Amino acid sequence: MYLHGTSRINEKGRLEIGGCDTVDLAEQFGTPLYVYDEEMIRDICRAYKQAFAETGLRYQVAYASKAFSSLAMCRLVAEEGLSLDVVSAGELFTAAQAGFPVERIHFHGNNKSPDELDYALQMGVGEFVVDNFYELNLLGQLAFGRGQTVPILLRVTPGVEAHTHEYISTGQQDSKFGFDVASGQAKIAIETALRTKGVKLGGLHSHIGSQIFETEGFAVAISRVAELYEWTSQEFAVNFDRLNVGGGFGIRYIAEDQPLRPKDYVRAIADAVKSEFAVRGLDDPEVIIEPGRSIVGAAGTTLYTVGSSKTIPGIRKYIAVDGGMSDNPRPALYQAEHEAILANRAREAAEETVSVAGKCCESGDMLIWDLQLPPAESSDILAVTCTGAYNYSMASNYNRLPRPAAVFVKNGRADLIIRRETLEDLIRNDLLPERMTAEVGK
Ligand SMILES: *Cc1c(COP(=O)(O)O)cnc(C)c1O
Repeated sequence: MYLHGTSRINEKGRLEIGGCDTVDLAEQFGTPLYVYDEEMIRDICRAYKQAFAETGLRYQVAYASKAFSSLAMCRLVAEEGLSLDVVSAGELFTAAQAGFPVERIHFHGNNKSPDELDYALQMGVGEFVVDNFYELNLLGQLAFGRGQTVPILLRVTPGVEAHTHEYISTGQQDSKFGFDVASGQAKIAIETALRTKGVKLGGLHSHIGSQIFETEGFAVAISRVAELYEWTSQEFAVNFDRLNVGGGFGIRYIAEDQPLRPKDYVRAIADAVKSEFAVRGLDDPEVIIEPGRSIVGAAGTTLYTVGSSKTIPGIRKYIAVDGGMSDNPRPALYQAEHEAILANRAREAAEETVSVAGKCCESGDMLIWDLQLPPAESSDILAVTCTGAYNYSMASNYNRLPRPAAVFVKNGRADLIIRRETLEDLIRNDLLPERMTAEVGK
């Protein structure tokens, strides 16, 4: 199995992350437990910034907080000098409570409610990425009504879709997000935004997909968006000063995944921006990227305790863990794949093929199919890697399972950053109507 960040196998033959023995972590904090390698997260934040610094462009690296939003994570990102994307009042509230500088927050989403927009205006959010005509009109009215003029970008769909090793370039992109370029919607939106009171249009945004391992899709999207910058300049004598090219940089979940380094993505994006703007006689814009998964995904590991197992002769052996789709819905949602090892016997030969089941009442609640492991027994600790992104943030209380705790580990120190939900937490919002409170059976 591939060891990410500071992960290593220690003298006891156990998995160690951030200098902490994961078997000790499981004992101290219980399982399932999300373990975040703080140094690795910081290193990746710095790698993106460093790569941009070398290009000479003005830039912002905005962490897409939907990948993993919590007070400690928002604080870490603030400390590293990144910007932050939020897509709801909840993510905005979390960032604000963490003391994140609001002027470095970008508000995204395809259906921001009037209340959310009002809240964001009141908070003084740095930029709104406007997704559709309804929002453009609504935001303009709300901001104007408050005597504000807020910076916006328009999200456009440039007709490029990238996933992993491929990108598809289509004329008409069928997406719920953004203003379509091919059909001319994007131009109408630019024209409308430029005469909408309460907003100040500073450029365009595109986000072409997720878990992308190549750079060609970004280059094509940048070229199509640059055409719109040129058109706007000619048509309205307005020169946009910012360009947001989105996120989607891939990580290595399994051996077949071969992501590029942060600097490879950044260099390719910077080169495309420089050449596409230069040929049109336009000045370089400030360039914004929005990595989510690639900042936290590989830095997160989930520790589970193995419980029951079941062998169907001639077919398969299942081992079940004390979590599942409730803390990691990705395999069930997207057939996502993960690697795992026995954290307490990390050096033993992997002689058995097992499939790892969750404990939820769904046959689809499988975490890993056909994993090579040493013969696993109940009370072994299974460590599933690359669970830092879209795991806690997509976790649910299905089957009324309390959501797990999370820790930051660094230099042999573990700090609880999200406490484990209790049974009491599960009924915190439940109410019994008064007419149902008579003693049962009377
Ligand atoms: C989800 C999202 C991101 C982050 O995507 P990752 O694949 O996690 O890097 C960035 N920008 C926008 C607009 C998104 O919706």
